[in-house]
Amino acid sequence: MHLQDILTRGHNRMNVGFNNEISPITLRIKDAKKEKSYQYHCNSSSLLWFRLAIVLGVTLYLSFCIVDYFLFSTLLFDFLKIRLFIVLPVVILSFILTYWRDYPKYAQWINIFAIVVSSSGIIGMAIIGRQHPEISRSYAGLVPYFLYIYAFLRIRFVHGTIIGTSLYIIYTLVEWYILKTPFNIFIANTFYMGASNFAGILISYLLEYQGKNEYLLQEKLEKLTLTDAMTGLYNRYYYNNYSCKDIQRFLDGIKKGNIRERRSSNITPTNYGLVLLDIDHFKKINDTYGHDIGDSVLINLAELLKKQVCNSDDILRWGGEEFLIILKSIQNDDLGSFVRKIGSCIENLEFHLPDGTMIQTKCSIGCLSIPFGDVDNLDKLIKYTDDALYRSKKSGRNKGYQATFSKGTCKFIELMWH
Ligand code: GH3
Ligand code: MG
Ligand code: MG
Repeated sequence: MHLQDILTRGHNRMNVGFNNEISPITLRIKDAKKEKSYQYHCNSSSLLWFRLAIVLGVTLYLSFCIVDYFLFSTLLFDFLKIRLFIVLPVVILSFILTYWRDYPKYAQWINIFAIVVSSSGIIGMAIIGRQHPEISRSYAGLVPYFLYIYAFLRIRFVHGTIIGTSLYIIYTLVEWYILKTPFNIFIANTFYMGASNFAGILISYLLEYQGKNEYLLQEKLEKLTLTDAMTGLYNRYYYNNYSCKDIQRFLDGIKKGNIRERRSSNITPTNYGLVLLDIDHFKKINDTYGHDIGDSVLINLAELLKKQVCNSDDILRWGGEEFLIILKSIQNDDLGSFVRKIGSCIENLEFHLPDGTMIQTKCSIGCLSIPFGDVDNLDKLIKYTDDALYRSKKSGRNKGYQATFSKGTCKFIELMWH
């Protein structure tokens, strides 16, 4: 099959079916963690959008003021009280809050609050102006207001629907029972507002669905780019883009004397550990049992390694049958026992072939813990780890070496597990 066919098939599949990771009614991403992360991601990447939306809202608002000035100048003062002292301060506050560091976390609620206050303001003004039935026509201005809520503020579709529809129902009741709007105008307003509310619901549904779909797709692509397809472990691209930066930040922290100032996560501050592992005589396994069996040995080994480390640690497929484990919270003294544990687990791992043959693997390991003397360059640290691994290979395999730094010189400590 040609690449073009594969891409076209994938494209069709993406467009035809509904993404089953998203609930079709509420548009919630079924994985709660992803939903939360989407909300944060969406809100933080839409800061400019939020600000522009508020500027648009204020422009709409001012244009109503001008229209009212010409049409109902007698009521202007009462209207101004609501506009200047209630609605505008809330809108301006919601604009200023976009500069707050934690804004993305609370953006939904801040916008919902601003919408509820301004909606109440609109209804309040309609009630104040009830002596003037003709005024209700001008509140067909709620039409763009609905679109504003749905399309521009990007609050969640479910929230928008609840607020917009409640506003629609309340305003319709106010028009009928309090404003006593003439029947024909009432029907016209009810229709305009109902239609724009419905259009708004559809727009926000599509926007949120599209946003979430893109987000999930992007996440999948990122996962594909950062992991090795066969073992599911991280790859070199992940190392270059994430691990390097993470470790370098830690090294910079040590340099500045604040070792305790650890990355964004809240892991207790201890040492980092680099563990480089290479399977012994792996070529022989390939040559004896075939490449497929070799592959499944690698997959099983990757699964075993995943079980041996904490969630916060990273395991990378460093090369063909070489793995790098980055431990993010290990005491210097514990590194040796961790390496011994890994070495003996691999030694005891048995692969059974359908014909009853049993394959066993062994490995050699090189490791070190950071801080490592005064070395503050990650490439050099990897080089020392590699040297330790090389020593293990040279001195008989199925063992490990830990590189240590004392009194300005690098020493290697042998680690045995059998
Ligand atoms: P040593 O103990 O010195 O590490 O010997 P070795 O045979 O493990 O090392 P060598 O570097 O000579 O060979 C590594 C082999 O790993 C060669 C290559 O065919 C095999 N290999 C690398 N990647 C894969 C893979 O994805 N699948 C399989 N089946 N084999 C792989
Ligand atoms: Mg090898
Ligand atoms: Mg190798």
